[in-house]
Amino acid sequence: MSQITIKQSQKIVDDWIKSIGVRYFSEMTQLAQLTEEVGEVARIISRTYGDQSFKKSEEKKLSDELADVLFVLICIANQTGIDLTEAFQKNMDKKTNRDKDRHKNNLKLKE
Ligand SMILES: [Mg+2]
Repeated sequence: MSQITIKQSQKIVDDWIKSIGVRYFSEMTQLAQLTEEVGEVARIISRTYGDQSFKKSEEKKLSDELADVLFVLICIANQTGIDLTEAFQKNMDKKTNRDKDRHKNNLKLKE
């Protein structure tokens, strides 16, 4: 799994859910899961880059927590019929058109 496309990742998650996860959790449960996983990312970032400190036994693998977020995000896309490749491409086009000069002209980014 060194090089996988977004489409492949959606298939990998779908296969995993159907073989190991039994079925997708409800969308509402997925939202709670997504929030929980984002909170775990926030905890690590807060303790790594912010003023909080880690407890002695605390795990600090940002990569693993980001992967947890990605997994739940892919689950939500799969069960709501969203092609993430297409959605991402459209979203990047939207951002590019909308923001092509916005950030370059933001003096706060040049400080
Ligand atoms: Mg996690």
